[in-house]
Amino acid sequence: MARVPAEDVAIDLRLLEGFQFSCRPDCGLCCYAEPAATPSERTRLLQIEPELPFRPESREYSRIVSRPDGGACSLLSANRCRAHPARPHPCRAFPVHVHIGERVQASLVLSCPGVELASLAGWTREGRKPGPKGLELELAAVREEFEDSPVELLQNDSTARLTRELRRRGIDRGGLENLRARTREALPSPEPERLADFEPPTSGGPLDEEPIFWDARLGLVLLSTSEEGLYEASGVREGGGIAASLGEFPPPEQLPRLTPPAEELLSGYLAYLGARDHFLWSVLAEGATSSSGSFAEEYLGTLAAVRGEVLARASVRARLLGETGERLGPEEVARGIRAMDNDLLDRPTLGSIL
Ligand code: SF4
Ligand code: SF4
Repeated sequence: MARVPAEDVAIDLRLLEGFQFSCRPDCGLCCYAEPAATPSERTRLLQIEPELPFRPESREYSRIVSRPDGGACSLLSANRCRAHPARPHPCRAFPVHVHIGERVQASLVLSCPGVELASLAGWTREGRKPGPKGLELELAAVREEFEDSPVELLQNDSTARLTRELRRRGIDRGGLENLRARTREALPSPEPERLADFEPPTSGGPLDEEPIFWDARLGLVLLSTSEEGLYEASGVREGGGIAASLGEFPPPEQLPRLTPPAEELLSGYLAYLGARDHFLWSVLAEGATSSSGSFAEEYLGTLAAVRGEVLARASVRARLLGETGERLGPEEVARGIRAMDNDLLDRPTLGSIL
């Protein structure tokens, strides 16, 4: 098969429309990671930091090892990357997230506080939106990556797995598009009696795999499960490691009430999530191992659970800031989305992720 030149790779950019991005220099959230570097990126990084530790992962990549005190990349100091001009591809492309299935689709990591979320409110409506603004360098980094990773190789593998799974589940393309249209029109909500099933995120792994979010007042905060099964919020030290518990919060016993603009924002988020190939293929991947019920039930049920979890995390964040968390406006719901979105993008999928 002839190789598709990187500049000719068709990237579906519709999920970037309407958004603006501007990195917040006081944040550093995306540097609580172990980014992968190609051999040439590694060489450039070692010219700046000769002692930088790497962990080989494959012939193509090695990872920058995080700091020994846990969590943050070894190159992060005072929320700054010490090798910013030479940072590897995943850092240059962030917050653009590229999923490769039957198509190459870009979306945004909405946990990043540099991405404004107001345009989510229009996501239940069809029609093109302006923009995006402020993502030119990130999209250029995505294009560069296709020079090293020919898209047809990634696509051959992921589409074959996807096609097999779709066939096995009895789903065709028309059925998928109908499902997405239904998602825009009538967004599911968890049954009130299922709220008791929600559990705070399980914890115990490396910090870069835990649910963390950034707050303008508190800095980086880790959400985990306390010994009593409550949501526990902990401060994260600059550079990594847990600073102190900020409080424990029971999951809400009933869904918080939403103002109309907050409802519109949350509905827009669920429509955005449902339009992400990553989400669709992750529900398929889940079904490939558990396979209970119809695919439509699993798809809509997962969206309903996400709605409940976004509201639970929004309520925890509101209570953390001294509010009651019982009635939420768009700002509070946006905080819940930011506390949740990265976890959803960490789910395994049948496609590939650039
Ligand atoms: S998470 Fe977003 S705002 Fe924060 S440092 Fe990374 S790109 Fe900038
Ligand atoms: S290489 Fe730089 S930008 Fe990338 S995670 Fe490390 S500190 Fe952050």
